[in-house]
Amino acid sequence: MAKERLLTCIVCPRGCQMKVLLSDEGAPISVEGNFCKRGVTYANDECTNPKRTVTSTVRCKSGAVVSVKTDTTIPKGMMFEVMAEINGVIAPDEVSIGDIVIANVCGTGANVVATSNTK
Ligand code: SF4
Repeated sequence: MAKERLLTCIVCPRGCQMKVLLSDEGAPISVEGNFCKRGVTYANDECTNPKRTVTSTVRCKSGAVVSVKTDTTIPKGMMFEVMAEINGVIAPDEVSIGDIVIANVCGTGANVVATSNTK
């Protein structure tokens, strides 16, 4: 028997409330309530392989702190592993927005990039 799942799309600030009809195997059959097709992609990913962008901070050698984020989404199940690698890194003292602080974090294919400048 098909099940329903209610989701809030987090792709943009509109935050559409979506109703997803799932097959017995948990695969999305239909999506309602999305304003645009990005919501369908999000619903499909969220029901089969949820992903997230990670945001955090990294300490520099000088003790300054720079904000960072992954430049693409990573599997939600790897959040703690990725956070552990981010927490273990020390960035150079001069970091600019967009600089790669960690390449291919935890083998996910995502880079951790600076979202602020140290100067
Ligand atoms: S479905 Fe489209 S409009 Fe609605 S929150 Fe998602 S991205 Fe934004």
